[in-house]
This record gives sequence, C-alpha cells and structure tokens, in this order.
Amino acid sequence: MIIKLKQHAARKQIDHLTDWLVRQNLRVQLSEGEFETIIGVIGDTSHVDLHGIEGLEIVDQVIRISEPFKTANRKFHPDDSAVRVGTQQVGGGAFTLIAGPCSVESPEQILEIARKVRAAGATMLRGGAFKPRTSPYDFQGLQAEGLELLKQARAETGLPIVTEIMNLNHIELFADVDVIQVGARNMQNFDLLRELGRTRQPVLIKRGLANTIKELLMSAEYVMAGGNPNVILCERGIRTFETYTRNTLDISAVPVLKELSHLPVIVDPSHACGLARHVPALALASVAAGADGLIIEVHNAPEKALSDGAQSLRPEQFEQLARRLARIREAMLP
Ligand code: PEP
Ligand code: MN
Repeated sequence: MIIKLKQHAARKQIDHLTDWLVRQNLRVQLSEGEFETIIGVIGDTSHVDLHGIEGLEIVDQVIRISEPFKTANRKFHPDDSAVRVGTQQVGGGAFTLIAGPCSVESPEQILEIARKVRAAGATMLRGGAFKPRTSPYDFQGLQAEGLELLKQARAETGLPIVTEIMNLNHIELFADVDVIQVGARNMQNFDLLRELGRTRQPVLIKRGLANTIKELLMSAEYVMAGGNPNVILCERGIRTFETYTRNTLDISAVPVLKELSHLPVIVDPSHACGLARHVPALALASVAAGADGLIIEVHNAPEKALSDGAQSLRPEQFEQLARRLARIREAMLP
C-alpha cells in the first residue's frame, strides 16, 4: 500500500502517521521525491482502516499496490533509485560499463584485461571465480583463488569488482566484493536471495533463462524484503525457439522493467547472443532502449579462453564499442 501525502505536509504529522503504522506491525518506507512525498507500507494491510488514513489532513490518496512486488515497484518509489558502489553509483542517471572475462584464469590474464578495459572506459571489472557450468567436466573457475586475483586487479586498477556467488555458504567469502552477481541459473535460489537480503552489499540479479519479467522482479523483492535495497537488475537474454544465437535478447525488458520498477537496469549482450561479432549491435541497442549500463565479456585471447571465448570481445573491439556507446548516450540526452 502507498500513501501519497499532500504537498507541504508537516513533518510532525508525517512522523505521527509513520509511528502509528509501525505500531500496526507494518514496515514503512518514506520516499521524498522532487514533486511528491510517498509513504510505502509493507506487510499485511488488510486490517488497516484505509478510510481512516484517507481522512487525515496530510493525506492526498491511499493506493493498494496490486502487483506482488512491492518494494521494487516504481509506485513505491517514483524516482529512479541509485545503488552506491564505492564512489560510483549505478542508475539514477549514471552509466555503468562493466567489462572483463567470463572467468578469472590467471594473475596475468585478469590484470592485463583489467588494465585494458579500464583504459577503454570501463567503470567496473567483471570476472567469474565460481562458475556455473552446464558440464561438470568443464572449467569450474579458480574459486577462492579467483576472488583473490580479482581483489589484486582492483587494488592495481581501482575498478570495483563484480563476481558471481553460487552458494549461500559463501556470503562471508564475498564480504569484500563490490557487486555480488546472482547468475541466471540462481535467479530463483530463494535461500540465496534471502541471505543476500541480510547484507547491504550491492546485488546484481540476472534474469533466468526461462523467467518472466515479473519473476525477476519477485527475485529482487526477496533481497529487498530482507532489508537490502541495493539491487541491480540485469537482462541477459532468454531461451526461445531461436537457435542461431545462444539466447534471445529481450530488449523490451529494458523499458518494461524501468516502467514497473525504480531499480537500475543493465544489459548483458554477451550471454544474450553468444557471438562476439553481434555483441556491439546489442550493446548499442540496449543503451538506446534506456539501459543504465552494460556488462560485457572481454578477453585478451578469446580463442584460448577457458569459458565463453566465442562471445568475448578483444580489448581493442571493446574500446571501439565504448566510443560508439558514448555517442549513443549523447544522442539519448533529453
Ligand atoms: C556470467 O556472467 O558469466 C554468467 C554465467 O552469466 P549468466 O548467469 O547470465 O549465464
Ligand atoms: Mn560467461
């Protein structure tokens, strides 16, 4: 439920109302936007006297939120929310360019790629340490050692690190990770999401291979319901009948997610199509569709990559793409 307040509602009366709601065992989130102030109310509101609240002097309107996602709902928070990552922010007008290899493979590999993507304009470094592979015989990642190598690359380049968690018992191991990625295969690992809700670390949730937009928002809701508001959504392609590309980029997910939710939305064009030569077109289209950022796989020797080489850009291709992205972003200015 949301309570829209009249302009110039007195602070004392607002406090009075929120205190009362808390005493009704409800959680309250005050959102003071440029044009309106909203009280978001979470919990079972069926016993609450709506007409009584509507009759208050400071209240303009009371609206029940019919969608199952509440905290992630734009009705709850009309302005875009921004997720703070160190000195940067994701969303809220900023543009985030995450780049790096699918997997961290060696100290030399991650450092060389980190330096090159940084020089090309990347704002964060990606790299998988724990890898969800379809085959148990494929490279599973350097695991804890991979995390250490990412931290070394961060120390050297200053780039915040983005890496995937697969197991809820690893939360402590990830305490120093700047953005924790929940991969497509774990989008509905509710125990993991719930545990991430207890932290305050930024969480990047990738859309599952066969999940709807609403299901993605419900996964975000799991993390937010635990008290962690720092959620970033990621469209990474869904499985369709098309087999030419690895997945099908659902470009419409970008404007739809931004309409339904206030959370930042980024796109992964690499996993969406699986073919490096088509990654630039999808990346440019995503920005034109309004994405707040991109996560792109870049490898210094794609032909030798231990995972996802076919979809990885070379550093020089990434650099060229970054320049074209800047032009699209300029064209998108109001
Ligand atoms: C990845 O980012 O390397 C990855 C495995 O992504 P996804 O979960 O989207 O497949
Ligand atoms: Mn990958």
